[in-house]
Amino acid sequence: MFENLSDRLSGVFDKLTKQGALSDDDVKTALREVRVALLEADVSLPVARDFIKAVQDKATGQAVTKSITPGQQVVKIVHDELQHILTGDEDPGALKIDNPPAPILMVGLQGSGKTTTTAKLAKRLKEREGKRVLMASLDVNRPAAMEQLQILGGQIGVDTLPIVKGEDPVAIAKRAKTQAGLGGYDVYMLDTAGRLHIDQELIAQAAAVRDAVSPRETLLVVDGLTGQDAVNVAQEFDDKIGVSGVVLTRMDGDGRGGAALSMRAITGKPIRFVGVGEKLDAIETFEPDRIAGRILG
Ligand code: GDP
Repeated sequence: MFENLSDRLSGVFDKLTKQGALSDDDVKTALREVRVALLEADVSLPVARDFIKAVQDKATGQAVTKSITPGQQVVKIVHDELQHILTGDEDPGALKIDNPPAPILMVGLQGSGKTTTTAKLAKRLKEREGKRVLMASLDVNRPAAMEQLQILGGQIGVDTLPIVKGEDPVAIAKRAKTQAGLGGYDVYMLDTAGRLHIDQELIAQAAAVRDAVSPRETLLVVDGLTGQDAVNVAQEFDDKIGVSGVVLTRMDGDGRGGAALSMRAITGKPIRFVGVGEKLDAIETFEPDRIAGRILG
């Protein structure tokens, strides 16, 4: 995650910190390189532009360039600004699951990693918080997806709602709610159907399920490798369904990381978790401080 961006930035900042005395022009030149590095990492243009402007406003002028360690000061300003644009929720990992049984709606495009993420989060809730979780697949068009969730449930020791053929997604969601209440579950997670593109039916179905259960969290799962597309998908889901947070998957891949940097600024929605592998414990909370540190090496 972020390796290329991180390499590029450390190149720029090594030069800057070795230089000793700095002029405003030196800082501007370095920030131009930072801007190129951000754009190459697929950070969206307005986000990169605002970022550079914010850093420039703070890093030029007497206070920084005349300080004893101007280069390090600039790096610190970049770090703080990175943390600022990454910051979303105060506690991204804290899912709102008081008032059991709490519904969590999982939405996203097919192949984004939605079913895997559902199981990863269920495992986390079970193991870290001792919660009893029930998972249900609403993907009535793809029996394989329903079976996949059942298999994952078996692997992590989390119950899944029995599959009943011929039910529509809203009926399944309602059955999950009833079952979760009767069975004393703390949380029930609804894995909605994904499609290759956002279309009318996908949105209508997710909205109908949302209206049927009033989820405490609606988590959008997007593929972090798709860069700015991930941000566009998030924007559209949020406009049409309303989401409470984003999970970026495949952040273990050779993604350039731009989606992570643009998400909050463009959509206003926090990244809550990142998927970092296929294994069912390969999920981390999205901590801005740690991520900013990772980007700056
Ligand atoms: P869905 O169609 O959105 O439900 O996607 P799936 O959950 O079936 O995931 C599709 C593929 O992506 C599977 O092979 C998963 O193992 C894989 N996958 C999901 N999340 C991650 C991740 O964070 N990293 C990696 N490397 N693979 C992932």
